[in-house]
Amino acid sequence: MSLNKALVSRRFAPRITEKRWNHSIERNIFDSWQMEGIYAFKPRKDNRPFVIDTPPPYPSGTWHIGAVAQYTQIDMIARTARMLGNQVLFPIGIDRNGLPVEIYTENLYNIKLRDTPREKFIDLCKVALDDLEDKMVAIMKRVGLSGEYESKYRTDEAEYRKLTQSTFIELWNNGLVYEATRPNNYCYECGTTIADAEVQYEERLTRLVYVKFKVKETNEPLIIATTRPELICACQLVIVNPSDERYVSLHGKHAVLPIYDREVCIKPHTSAMPDFGTGVVMICSYGDYTDVLLFRELGLLEIAATGQDGRLTEAAGPYRGLKIAEARTRIIQDLEAQNLIVKMESINHRTPVCSRSGTPIEIISMKEYYLKQIEFLPKLRQLAKKMAFHPPANRQILLDWLNSVAIDWPISRRRVYATEIPVWYCKRCSATFVPPAGKYYRPWRDSAPIQECHHCGAVEFEGDTRTFDTWMDSSVSALFITKYGRDPKFFKLSYPATIRPQGKDIVRTWLHYSILRCYQLTKKPPFTHAWIGGMGMDEQGQAMHKSKGNVIDPEPIIEKFGADSFRFWNASEATHGSDFRCSEARIESAHKFLTKLWNISRFISSFPQVRRARLQAADRWILSEVSALIEQSLAGYKEFNFFTPASAIRDFVWETFASHYMEMVKPRAYGQSFSKSQQEAAWYTLHMVLRNVLLLLAPVTPFLVDHIWRQLYSKESIHLQKFPKPSWSKRHRRFTERLITFNREVWRVKEEKKLALRDQLEMKIPKVLAPFRDDLTKMHSLIIRPSTQN
Ligand SMILES: [Zn+2]
Ligand SMILES: [Zn+2]
Repeated sequence: MSLNKALVSRRFAPRITEKRWNHSIERNIFDSWQMEGIYAFKPRKDNRPFVIDTPPPYPSGTWHIGAVAQYTQIDMIARTARMLGNQVLFPIGIDRNGLPVEIYTENLYNIKLRDTPREKFIDLCKVALDDLEDKMVAIMKRVGLSGEYESKYRTDEAEYRKLTQSTFIELWNNGLVYEATRPNNYCYECGTTIADAEVQYEERLTRLVYVKFKVKETNEPLIIATTRPELICACQLVIVNPSDERYVSLHGKHAVLPIYDREVCIKPHTSAMPDFGTGVVMICSYGDYTDVLLFRELGLLEIAATGQDGRLTEAAGPYRGLKIAEARTRIIQDLEAQNLIVKMESINHRTPVCSRSGTPIEIISMKEYYLKQIEFLPKLRQLAKKMAFHPPANRQILLDWLNSVAIDWPISRRRVYATEIPVWYCKRCSATFVPPAGKYYRPWRDSAPIQECHHCGAVEFEGDTRTFDTWMDSSVSALFITKYGRDPKFFKLSYPATIRPQGKDIVRTWLHYSILRCYQLTKKPPFTHAWIGGMGMDEQGQAMHKSKGNVIDPEPIIEKFGADSFRFWNASEATHGSDFRCSEARIESAHKFLTKLWNISRFISSFPQVRRARLQAADRWILSEVSALIEQSLAGYKEFNFFTPASAIRDFVWETFASHYMEMVKPRAYGQSFSKSQQEAAWYTLHMVLRNVLLLLAPVTPFLVDHIWRQLYSKESIHLQKFPKPSWSKRHRRFTERLITFNREVWRVKEEKKLALRDQLEMKIPKVLAPFRDDLTKMHSLIIRPSTQN
């Protein structure tokens, strides 16, 4: 080091002493935020707070990296709203109802729900959930979620379940709930009815069996192709397409079922597709939704072939008691033995499966409670059209779903770890009793809240043992966080909530049910903005599944690169609403940007801060770029699309500020042959740009910016500041292209001549860049000939 350099470095020692951004201090920074209470929600009497209807996550083991990413973006919404001047309610809730924890508990303790006393099973579920929840909350804190941990809510706590039950009772009293026996989606793995919204379709390989029936009148064989030969016993009709000329002669005749030797009518119906199988279709209760529609349309008598245990019933004759798959194998064997199978094909069949267990859905008739939704569809469409969607295109997902809803919502489930249905029945006359709202009821355990049956005078009652579909709970989260029924003043001030952030995978469940339920109860939508995020995919853009082996555990990556790298990766990975790719390499590249920002901050921290300065052309130029950056970033923030600010800031810091401005003013900042006032202008500008960049990045990378902010600018956290304003004229941006082009040209020529960057070079500065002459000359060690200076 030359003597000169040594003097410079002693005089300009960086105030940021750590050489690298040590992200292991993120934990301490989070703790200090908690201690200072800087995110505490302090509602003002007169002012509507900014209320986020945070999705309560379901603790069920390893948290999906895409979900963790989504929660960090929800945190960015909260931080953005605060920096825009709002009082922000960012609740932290945990969804703890439903099937996954039951299965988890069964596996954990190696027990079976059906063989364990209900009370004991519920206690074990709670213990398992507490453990999973702790891990989940630790991750929330690790990635910097600035929510209300002190008032964390759980959907299985008495207060919450009371709300679910009270709202059910309210809707019951308003005549919006009814009980009916109807064919319903049934998952025998989960042992419960499930709603259409929870049915997924998967292409599954299955056998299409061509079975020989007989035409009664002519004794001719009639070949019917079916994927469900075990349901032949439940066949009540055979149809052919009216336009199918091959079968016109069959209209009005009868088919004789093989094995069972029973007769059913053959009718023309447009539901038969001539090009599927042989074009002849058996209609049975119930192979698919077409069967359901035809049974209803033609008033056919249902034959219940499948029981709730997933085994065939009496109706199946020799196959009674067999599981569906076994029964299918057996009947195929028997049909083959009797020479009644013409051929079998392997086909890819679009199979409805349970979204929780992946089991193929059976359609069986059961008595269930339904919440009316069909009559609300026109209103829901209206509300969907009025609601602000981010991005706007995702409104269509909801509208498409609303257009396909065909039945009311079955809300009762045969499970145990969920909110109980608060209904009792008279043991003598079966009359139904719904208690008054305002308490948490457990009818399977508690005695009835009435003394005597109003209808028959009997005194013995039986509680319903079923529970609600867990969407009945989560669909009122907006009511819970705004204290519906608990604090009328606060409710009035804070409902509807401001924004519902969620993934697009649960539009037809959580979003739809929330709007339906909250509208039924309040005549208002639950929130004014719906923010619908894309899904986290693997490096190749494929969904992550345990079975594919492409699941990424976020925790080790966050440990390795820090929460801010994870957050910056997520914000800059894809525009809001698109699916985004997750990989360690992508997060590592975000980490590189933070390292760059750290180095820049450390360099700037070497220089004193001055209050005002006489700006030079280069200073005015970069500040005009900062104005543009602020405008662009704020436009993105106001849309809650963090891709816009994150990518704009990265490009500015890396491409414009560091590569051009900082290189240009280094000599001036160090005071090499510049006046004191020129030097101070460089100091002033460097700090001004850094301050603004830190403020603009605060919602995205809250740890690093607060750490730098407090070392350089204020003891008060950056997270108590507002966004900066674009206060500099953007006129000087007209130089941007010219400056960048000129610098690149100099670097190109030096490289061509094999000169080092600091080597002298003779080169002409274009006239238009004359105001920058001193900075550019020093920056590139240019030799300016007197003749070129005019
Ligand atoms: Zn299931
Ligand atoms: Zn009675």
